[in-house]
Amino acid sequence: MFAAGIPLVSAALSVAFPAEGQKIPAAERTYVIGAVAASCTNTPLIVNGATTDVWRTGAFLAMVPVTPGTNTLHLTCGKQRLARRFVVAEPPKPGSWKPFKPVTSDDDPRLGKPVAWRTRGTLFMNRVRPVPDDGDALYYLPPQFTLRGAEVKGTDWIAVWIDGKIGFLPPASLVKTPLVPVPSADQPAPDPTACFPSEPPRGVPPSAVRILVDPGHGGADTGARSPHGWCEKDVNLSQARAIRDALKKAGFQVMMTRDDDSFPALYSRPKLAYDEHVDAFISVHHNASPAHRDPREVRHTTTYASNARGLALASAVQKRIAAVLPDIKDAGPQTKSFAVCRNPAVPSCLIEVDFINLPEGEEASWDPERQKKVAAAVAQGVLDWMSAK
Ligand SMILES: [Zn+2]
Repeated sequence: MFAAGIPLVSAALSVAFPAEGQKIPAAERTYVIGAVAASCTNTPLIVNGATTDVWRTGAFLAMVPVTPGTNTLHLTCGKQRLARRFVVAEPPKPGSWKPFKPVTSDDDPRLGKPVAWRTRGTLFMNRVRPVPDDGDALYYLPPQFTLRGAEVKGTDWIAVWIDGKIGFLPPASLVKTPLVPVPSADQPAPDPTACFPSEPPRGVPPSAVRILVDPGHGGADTGARSPHGWCEKDVNLSQARAIRDALKKAGFQVMMTRDDDSFPALYSRPKLAYDEHVDAFISVHHNASPAHRDPREVRHTTTYASNARGLALASAVQKRIAAVLPDIKDAGPQTKSFAVCRNPAVPSCLIEVDFINLPEGEEASWDPERQKKVAAAVAQGVLDWMSAK
């Protein structure tokens, strides 16, 4: 503990992660990131007794061992002192988590009586999962769509029947409508990809191609934090603006989901791409490692897609981005289920340009010159995608 009178927080020495009182998942270690002011760079920075390197920007990163419960960090740099308390969760007890066994037949004893249910969310919120908690999509249902469904006892899920298959929706997506006749189990699923091209636009000039650029997060949703406490939402916006400018320079028509510090609802972003019938959707993010992973070990650049249409775009874009970031490991294009990328109709990808929770990644990501380089690479990647055989 610190003696009375020693300041616990000082502007000359700051910790961006963990935040005061923050609860982090069970782990044996965590990263600590923060920054020291120029006045503090001539004296060693000590984090819990260990001397810690300070990057030229004043940012630092340390890995410290932790134990379940309240942990305290002690940092000193010359006369500056800082204490930070945070909580590490208890490890889960073995066997405390039971996987949900999906309902696969109509006579499963967990099923309630089938009644009519009506969807209440937007197209991409009404995602019928093949199994609960799975990121995949069996179907997307438009709003006000009525289908056969039944509560699954002991769970928070509603089993629904469509196309003769059983899928699952969370109760928030549905309203029970018992006065409506129960639809049949093999009611056909609507096809949200109808009227959308299945191939990238080919043989057309960029001026005929419309692209929606999505700066990730925004408003109260800050995204990841860098050592100086800067927010991912802000670097996403400046990188996305650079991408917009590069795409426009290449002749494309470009829209943005946000061009300020607002937060368009997550599902409104793919919905805008769908409603506007754009040719491509590009979400711009920056990464951070989970608390127990050293970001120096995991730092990489990647572009995600959630389906085959998106993967063609992601692959072309990622190839060009990796070429301009030779110092960062290229994890290639990857497939992962993201709300903004699951759009079955519009080719969609999500770029994780770099990691911002380490000093080098923070410095590089906020560099306007690097942002321009990445932006030009994205524009070139989109052109490659359009001309790929
Ligand atoms: Zn993000």
